[in-house]
Amino acid sequence: MIDLTTRDIKYITGVGPQKADVLNKELKIFSVHDLIYYFPYKYVDRSRIYTIKELNGNMPYIQIKGKILSYETFGEGRQRRLVAHFSDGTGTVDLIWFQGIKYITSRYKVNQEFIVFGKPSVFNGRINVAHPDMDKPEDVKLTSKGLQPYYNTTEKMKRSFLASPVLARIMATVLQTLQEPLPETLPEWLLAKYHLMPLTEAINTIHFPSNPDSLRKAEYRLKFEELFYIQLAILRYAKDRQMRYRGYIFPRVGDFFNTFYSEHLPFELTGAQKRVLKEIRQDVGTGRQMNRLVQGDVGSGKTLVALMSMLLALDNKFQTCMMAPTEILANQHYETICSFMKGMNVRVELLTGSVKGKKRKEILEGLLNGDIHILVGTHAVIEDTVQFASLGLAVIDEQHRFGVAQRARLWSKNIHPPHVLVMTATPIPRTLAMTLYGDLDVSVIDELPPGRKPIQTIHQFDNRRESLYQSVDKQIAEGRQVYIVYPLIKESEKIDLKNLEEGYHQICEAFPKCTVCKVHGKMKPAEKDEEMQRFISGEAQIMVATTVIEVGVNVPNASVMIIENAERFGLSQLHQLRGRVGRGADQSYCILVTKYQLAEDTRKRLEIMVRTNDGFEIAEADLKLRGPGDLEGTQQSGVAFDLKIADIARDGQLLQYVREIAQQVVDEDPEGILPQNDLLWQQLKALRKENVNWASIS
Ligand code: ADP
Ligand code: MG
Repeated sequence: MIDLTTRDIKYITGVGPQKADVLNKELKIFSVHDLIYYFPYKYVDRSRIYTIKELNGNMPYIQIKGKILSYETFGEGRQRRLVAHFSDGTGTVDLIWFQGIKYITSRYKVNQEFIVFGKPSVFNGRINVAHPDMDKPEDVKLTSKGLQPYYNTTEKMKRSFLASPVLARIMATVLQTLQEPLPETLPEWLLAKYHLMPLTEAINTIHFPSNPDSLRKAEYRLKFEELFYIQLAILRYAKDRQMRYRGYIFPRVGDFFNTFYSEHLPFELTGAQKRVLKEIRQDVGTGRQMNRLVQGDVGSGKTLVALMSMLLALDNKFQTCMMAPTEILANQHYETICSFMKGMNVRVELLTGSVKGKKRKEILEGLLNGDIHILVGTHAVIEDTVQFASLGLAVIDEQHRFGVAQRARLWSKNIHPPHVLVMTATPIPRTLAMTLYGDLDVSVIDELPPGRKPIQTIHQFDNRRESLYQSVDKQIAEGRQVYIVYPLIKESEKIDLKNLEEGYHQICEAFPKCTVCKVHGKMKPAEKDEEMQRFISGEAQIMVATTVIEVGVNVPNASVMIIENAERFGLSQLHQLRGRVGRGADQSYCILVTKYQLAEDTRKRLEIMVRTNDGFEIAEADLKLRGPGDLEGTQQSGVAFDLKIADIARDGQLLQYVREIAQQVVDEDPEGILPQNDLLWQQLKALRKENVNWASIS
């Protein structure tokens, strides 16, 4: 059988060592296998040339033939653009470039004939084509034979004679010279049962489809396979774990839980809280080890649900712990839990990096002899020196801040792994959750406690600062506190920090009677905590900060969140930030400040924020607008999101479908031993080695 993963691309006719080197570096294509799995991003029917007078803004990619009459440049700095006035005798269009201006003008000379290929759009009543492909007419074969593939290429590739048409030619050579069919990657029975195109045909078709229908079938097969193996890996892993580990059983609902529920709980649980508690109770009653993710917007009452699950553990003679990503959050949880536990015979302790000496020793002893019921803390909790008499449940807050390895260390804290409850206020769309946390069961608290006033969100342009400051003044006069947030990203860190400093001074000047504190990620942790504490205590009325405040901080008295340069934030991030206000009884406001000129999808993002407070709706919209790679939490999750062909945002239905199929396979073959599935398990092993540490998905 042929193994294309070991065939170096440099031996392909038309490639050679130099081009191979460029492909290695630019696209990480090393082997023939890598190459044929580099799929086109679009296909075009290049059998026809349009005239300019036929064009309108609703057309897909088209080609026109004519000459550049002249060049002009507009704008300065980042706004700078190059415009070529292009004519074919029936009219003119503007060809526009925002980058590579020098290169373009030297390469595409005025008055030479070109075939221009791109997507026309209309701006200010004129038709333009941005960043078109330009070819000399003799290089473009007008073919009526089918769809022509287009491959993404980089500037460097183009300069090394590896533009898309060249890549297509190389691809054709490779596919034609393959003597044997490619080794099939899905078992025969699966292909037959789900009517999938065989691999060799699918690969040939995806590069050179003869018609749209066969293209669709090839895409389907390849997407199916891609998503199927992800799901199979996750479910296989979950099954192995389930078979390997037993979980503790909490059969009893006892005094801790009942006393708290009937005598201490100051309010009624929401329906959603009751439902999730019931789901948790079911989990811990089965003998399986629970791994459950509780999603819910900020303020939906997750902490309380976690606490009540902990009481359930106590009723069954187990200890529990709760981990938070920062010291401040751990402190807050500790205080909350202590106040809920007042008058009950429950010992709660706090363990963070700054708990040292005698106190620390005391806590470690209390854990080991079982005196301590609930331990709240930071990463300090998972250190090896921290040993429990009998840990039965671990709660993790804001899990995406915790690495996988850290979570795994929790497991070894008792003979059987404790149950794990993960809380997150970053809602994740269902399809994505299925991929990211495939082996976690997911509960959703989709209801806020009664009496909350929904946060009012307002979009304001930055030229109306005065009226903005006036309303801030009014809130402060009423005793409220205000957050002002600036973006800070790595790529523009220096400028961003400067903006923050300027903003800080501006605010100090505008509010001379107020105390203003300042927090950003570049400060030393101790300094940061101190500033944060000034706001929490109420000493400072205004906090100027970067997104460091986005996780968990709870200051119920803060009623205004101003987000500067809101256009630079993602939807989920805006939503997280907004969640910092609206925690008290007062009407709260979130003000999104942007410049006046905005791109279309930015405008859409802001509109969504203004329209809804529903985190799930926002997460879905974010996934559609930005794609999964950028979503909060996905980068740290360890899942490779460089899907080659499937798209989590658009292929949600297919994902669900293949998940069910994968589940059937795993259920029918729990040990992974049925001969008909040999190929599946082999393939899985190979894929695991190739890209992802699947064990990290939890
Ligand atoms: P989350 O952790 O989801 O952000 P919290 O558990 O911190 O939410 O709850 C936010 C606030 O709402 C807390 O002050 C909490 O005591 C209160 N709360 C929780 N559940 C209810 C409820 N069912 N009714 C009224 N208030 C509640
Ligand atoms: Mg919380």
